[in-house]
Amino acid sequence: MNAVASASSPVLVAGGGIGGLAAALALTRQGFDVKVLEQAVQLGEIGAGIQLGPNAFAAFDALGVGDAARSRSVITDELLLLDAIDETSVVRVPTGREFQDRFGNPYAVIHRADVHKLLLEGAERTGRVELGTGVTVVRVEQDDTGVTVHDSQGRTHRGIALIGADGVKSAVRRQYVGDEARVSGHVVYRAVVDKKDFPAELQWNAASIWVGPDCHLVHYPLRGGEQYNVVVTFHSREKEEWSVREGSRDEVQSYFDGICAKARQLIDLPRDWKRWATADRHPISQWVFGRAALLGDAAHATLQYLAQGACMALEDAVTLGEALRASDNDFTRAFALYQRSRTVRTARVVLSAREMGHIFHAKGLERLVRNELWKGRSPARLFDAMEWLYDWNAGNCLQERRV
Ligand SMILES: Cc1cc2nc3c(=O)[nH]c(=O)nc-3n(C[C@H](O)[C@H](O)[C@H](O)COP(=O)(O)OP(=O)(O)OC[C@H]3O[C@@H](n4cnc5c(N)ncnc54)[C@H](O)[C@@H]3O)c2cc1C
Repeated sequence: MNAVASASSPVLVAGGGIGGLAAALALTRQGFDVKVLEQAVQLGEIGAGIQLGPNAFAAFDALGVGDAARSRSVITDELLLLDAIDETSVVRVPTGREFQDRFGNPYAVIHRADVHKLLLEGAERTGRVELGTGVTVVRVEQDDTGVTVHDSQGRTHRGIALIGADGVKSAVRRQYVGDEARVSGHVVYRAVVDKKDFPAELQWNAASIWVGPDCHLVHYPLRGGEQYNVVVTFHSREKEEWSVREGSRDEVQSYFDGICAKARQLIDLPRDWKRWATADRHPISQWVFGRAALLGDAAHATLQYLAQGACMALEDAVTLGEALRASDNDFTRAFALYQRSRTVRTARVVLSAREMGHIFHAKGLERLVRNELWKGRSPARLFDAMEWLYDWNAGNCLQERRV
């Protein structure tokens, strides 16, 4: 393939989520026009929070939206891991000045809709991104000069290349890889609660996680502390399939036995819950199929236990842009460099997240071992362990096989 930037033919992006919009921005910065094909009738994000590591802010800066991201985030003071049975503090990672000096950026929490909006605004400002909503990608064809994407209404969309950023149930991945999602059996309930309804004793400026047997509970502030994000996870008694639906108060209340009252009150707060039965995918080493490349959850769907899925999608987008820059916008060379730069690092995230879920949900003796793991560690030693993940930026993203 010898496709270079062309004024007449756009790059197609399947999916207008965080990954797809970040990819669109990265591509415009290399001079391409972009057409985003999104199945939803209206672009947007779900009502829930998201954690952002320093690597996400490095990506936002590279995409030209760093200031907007900082202004809409709550910069945390610390990361807290507490035992949900006896309230022991298992580990406390300060994320103030020392952390920010070490990694060049803060650790923050933000409403997902605000991330999506700032990427959308950035894309709209370029004047080079066409947003096609109500377009469900079903099939891709390739020839010597480009790609033709077929949608569910029988329409076709033509471009020089395709980025498959269509999420954990990606149609692009189904066509080129055909593997199954790996359903975890873990169920997540999420809600956003107004400050006035959130217990004063838990109103900390921290990304906080209470870990218990086969479960955990997360809370952190959003939007200047006016709202709080509540996320609770448990191992389901049912046989689960990957799905998102309205939650049931009765179901969530039937779990979390033995959890201390301070943590358990979190499940009494929300009026409306949304319920996710989660899945990831086993890491694969091929994301590039001729003129099509996978990105975000389509490439490396991960469990949420490192809070890094969206951060990785942002990194993917920046790396794709940098690979194009380094390859004079030749897609063949750029896609190959992108794939080499991303697959090992994201596989480490997927595999580490599975392990972290195991550690979070430990019980019995394993729980007591877990509670000793970080004991007495200085902030500097804690930061050392995070370096592989957070010390990422546009300047070092093309180091091949970087973990
Ligand atoms: C409970 C939970 C907590 C999480 N917490 C964090 C966190 O704290 N930090 C973090 O970094 N990550 C977190 N994540 C992960 C993060 O949500 C995802 O990794 C991220 O949203 C992936 O973005 P994406 O754009 O690749 O996919 P998606 O957000 O799934 O977007 C895909 C888009 O493609 C569209 N689409 C799908 N199929 C088609 C099709 N056939 N044609 C056209 N369009 C299509 C969809 O409508 C959607 O808009 C969490 C995930 C979960 C489940």
